[in-house]
Amino acid sequence: MATKGFNAFEMAQKQFDTVADLLELDQPTRDLLRQPLREYHFSIPVRMDDNSVRVFRGFRCQHNDARGPCKGGIRFHPQETIDTVRALSMWMTWKCAVVDIPLGGGKGGVICDPHDLSPREQERLCRGWIRAIAQDIGHLRDVPAPDVMTSPQHMLWMLDEFETIHGAKYPGFITGKPVGMGGSLGRTEATGYSLIYTVREALKELGIKIETTVASVQGFGNVAQYAIELYTRLGGKVIAVACWDQADQASYTYRKKRGVSLEELRAITDRFGGIDKAKAEALEYERLPGDAWIEQDVDILLPCALENQVNAETVKKIAPRVKVMAEGANGPTTPEADVVIKSRGIFVIPDFLANAGGVTCSYFEQVQCNMNYFWTKEEVLTRLDDKMTSAFKAVSELARTRKLYMRDAAYVISVSRVANACKDRGWV
Ligand code: GLU
Repeated sequence: MATKGFNAFEMAQKQFDTVADLLELDQPTRDLLRQPLREYHFSIPVRMDDNSVRVFRGFRCQHNDARGPCKGGIRFHPQETIDTVRALSMWMTWKCAVVDIPLGGGKGGVICDPHDLSPREQERLCRGWIRAIAQDIGHLRDVPAPDVMTSPQHMLWMLDEFETIHGAKYPGFITGKPVGMGGSLGRTEATGYSLIYTVREALKELGIKIETTVASVQGFGNVAQYAIELYTRLGGKVIAVACWDQADQASYTYRKKRGVSLEELRAITDRFGGIDKAKAEALEYERLPGDAWIEQDVDILLPCALENQVNAETVKKIAPRVKVMAEGANGPTTPEADVVIKSRGIFVIPDFLANAGGVTCSYFEQVQCNMNYFWTKEEVLTRLDDKMTSAFKAVSELARTRKLYMRDAAYVISVSRVANACKDRGWV
């Protein structure tokens, strides 16, 4: 998303360059992996409910498919930019590689604000996005999924349009579908739960009991809500939640020192994760400025909103007590902030590892669709926990043995896997 002076793609490339140096990658491999293999930019005309026509701008970037079809979500956001989609597609490549699933990286977006669109207008937008790119995506090429402000319903409309165009059923074409319509049980919970699986493992390694910990969360969308659910179920206490307020076009942090209640907050939240401020205050939540979440006196920080939230400015506010930061969002931390976090010795669980549970469950969804046989929720979540736990352990072991920052260790594993796939195919 566009933030003054911040470019997510430059940040993704900077992170990649550091690891390319560490791995001493040859120039052709660097040139290949520093940018998407392919990208599509298109206009989507949509008939609005008042019969006028609005033209939206859509994108899809296919960063790399050496390990399998591209995979990644589609975001609806008013500040979407092609550079953000490029960065996110690159991070998807590393994400699929770190959990070792046979998929590459892709990402899509539309510049729009779904708050302002009726359900019918959203349906037409989804169908228009598919019509623009239906020949270049598919279950064997590039598989979309939900992301910021897109939902299982959006995925179903997209699937329906794709199947209408191609004249056959392709349930594995898109993931994050509603349960009963080709979706997997556990997909909704997957990203938030997986974030906490990695936090649980990190705390074990640090010798800290989760029941003694307190956390602050940025975001109250799908990832944050399920992360809070599992974290509190395991005994942790969340004292602050920050989220976007659509009416004020600003964000606020809602704090309750004795612990926020997920049920209470869910009951006063819109479908995009916006909390009703008057109702929150009536329920005795203190309303603080948007970036107050980062300065709370807590053990764990969970940025689960957008990119560029922990940056050169905000990182200075992190309280001395913070021991772990697990990134539910994609790209929340800038390289400048990483330098500070590293020197402070905060244990970081980097985004493309910490939030990889979403795409891992998407992969399970594809497997189930291909078999046309669906697993129980318990089976899905057990497999997810196994996959996340072993990916976490591999990264933290490498970090320990090679004395690497966790983000760099995760990058070393992912980039080597992808670079080797490109070499083995004879691309470079
Ligand atoms: N949008 C999610 C992510 O950033 C999930 C992607 C997927 O399931 O393909 O990881």
